[in-house]
Amino acid sequence: MSPTIDRITLHHYRLPLDPPFHASWDPQPRRSFGATIVRVTAGDYEGVGAGDAMLGFAGHEHLFLGQDPFAIERHVTLLDNLQFHYGRMWPLEIALWDLMGQISGQPLWKLLGGSSNRVRVYASTGERLPAAQRAATARTLRDMGFPALKLRFHAADPRQDIAIAAAVRAAVGPDMHILIDANQGWRMPWDASAPWDLKTASWVADALAELDVFWLEEPLHRHDYVNLAALRRRSRVRIAGGEGNRDFAELHQYLAHGSLDVYQPDVAWSTGILRGCQLARAVQAASALYSPHTWGDGLVLLANLHVSAALSQAPFIEFPFDPPAWTPQRRDFILPQPLLPEPDGFVTLPHAPGLGVTLDWQALAPLQT
Ligand SMILES: [Mg+2]
Repeated sequence: MSPTIDRITLHHYRLPLDPPFHASWDPQPRRSFGATIVRVTAGDYEGVGAGDAMLGFAGHEHLFLGQDPFAIERHVTLLDNLQFHYGRMWPLEIALWDLMGQISGQPLWKLLGGSSNRVRVYASTGERLPAAQRAATARTLRDMGFPALKLRFHAADPRQDIAIAAAVRAAVGPDMHILIDANQGWRMPWDASAPWDLKTASWVADALAELDVFWLEEPLHRHDYVNLAALRRRSRVRIAGGEGNRDFAELHQYLAHGSLDVYQPDVAWSTGILRGCQLARAVQAASALYSPHTWGDGLVLLANLHVSAALSQAPFIEFPFDPPAWTPQRRDFILPQPLLPEPDGFVTLPHAPGLGVTLDWQALAPLQT
């Protein structure tokens, strides 16, 4: 008989960023980085999760109190109901999985069925840099052992970004994989620019095939299932997407249309863990790749890496890393220590229960908002 859920609390933190981070997908410089941590306890056990701020959750704690933490199908159904009304609630599901790990004494990657605790990662860059500078950082990433790196396209004229990709290919040689994120799937609230159309995306995909690019991510709007499928059929480069689609049914639309080679729903941002695993199995059964988006705080990255270790057959998983602008220290400020890959390009997940980290609440206190 496992203890029942007896407390759920939300805690908000903010790390100042000086100098600011110029995310390529955001027209506004980022001067701080916020994180919300959910704590859920059952008797002597505590689980933590993070991701969205879960605005609108307050007042609904009673739906989970007194319940068995392991009744995850029931909890996910209610969290999906809540997300329909108020926005994403997956940080609580992550905390419940961490709690199940604490109670059962098993790491999450193992609880989810995985036989390995190692995940090969690619370096996901965040800023647009001039070609020579980006080529130099790419060479550093290759020499650190990353098997692949991801670049961001955001010039008004994509030929400028293709020139940067060409400089990177020349710098790293033929063996390192290059991934391109066009970031056309969604926009920040203050960005009214239109996404690419099919002709632009096709033209870019042709140019990138000449550079032996491994995948082209979000080349069209996230709901443009039909044109994504048309692009996938004619493109020599793999088409990736789905990082932020909120409804599980939307991800099934990609499968039904054959829109994607690589499925990227983030377990914190898009599917939750239970449905992320369900989708991973479905896409892999359809001979596609599951390589989730992980861009977020340290617990978001950890949750996605646990699911990937358990299930993914993809050659590499996203590891946000673009120093000095986006360092592991900034990314993982809510963790006691930043996650780092080993020289062979793998991250090793802990054998400790759940997500495998114990947060330092005293160290976090000054950043609480
Ligand atoms: Mg992306």
